[in-house]
Amino acid sequence: VTRWLELTADYRCNNACIGCFSVDQNGPSMSSREVAEALLAGRNMGARFLWLGGGEPTLRKDLFTTIARAKTAGYERIKLQTNGMLLSYPEFCDRLLKAGLSEVSFSIKGAGPETHDRLTQTPGCHALMVKGIAEARARAFELSGDLLIYAENAAELPEMVKRHAAHGLTHFDVWLFSAADRPELADRVPRISDVMPHLLAAMDAFPNITSLHTPACTVPESHHRALFFPAELELRVENPGGHGFMLEASPIEGGQYLASCARCRFRPRCGGLRADYLRIHGEGEFSPI
Ligand code: SF4
Repeated sequence: VTRWLELTADYRCNNACIGCFSVDQNGPSMSSREVAEALLAGRNMGARFLWLGGGEPTLRKDLFTTIARAKTAGYERIKLQTNGMLLSYPEFCDRLLKAGLSEVSFSIKGAGPETHDRLTQTPGCHALMVKGIAEARARAFELSGDLLIYAENAAELPEMVKRHAAHGLTHFDVWLFSAADRPELADRVPRISDVMPHLLAAMDAFPNITSLHTPACTVPESHHRALFFPAELELRVENPGGHGFMLEASPIEGGQYLASCARCRFRPRCGGLRADYLRIHGEGEFSPI
């Protein structure tokens, strides 16, 4: 079953986030025709919702055409995943609205410019994103935040949520940095047990938070509303070159289980553990429920 189609049309980006595995300025790219075909193929597979990812999808010249085509093809929700910089231009947001966009998810890496701009390696990026959030809010898009947590920004998590919720974001997804492709960045992969107190504090202040890389056995039952089960999103990723896969098959989502997981009542739904996480931090934090 496919409910969401996530389209990665290419990997170009105007940020240079530390350790990003999804950016390649000279990498493969879908033509506009291939994008249009992928949209129709997604609908034929049953997808009703579209997620425009990347790379940075706002850099594509065919973005507005793609959104309009998706709308015509019958996608009910059309979500843009972005660093938000180009949304700071009012006319850019006007065109998104006119094309039929419904939602924007902003990629956030710090509570304020100091951390965000350092981790994106793009001075001024946070200020532009905040302006982009204001422009998007003025057009009544549904707004959410993707919070990428490194070892060094984990303690900012509650403040990241608080400040950006004040700008109008209504839901947050927390991701833990993966060093799957970059072993030299292993010391930036946060330990779940170090992140957890900050995640709980953020959730106690703001309820709408989902945490994607913290399996059930690492989250207190009182906060299980944060749990995320990749297969239940029913999301298919389409990358350039006709490379498509369901989200739960992605190595950065998990897929590894311990022998003891067989005894866990969450095993049928749990997305498992990332191989890079187990290599770096070991198995000690996980035990069957
Ligand atoms: S299946 Fe394994 S990793 Fe998942 S919640 Fe249970 S013990 Fe934790």
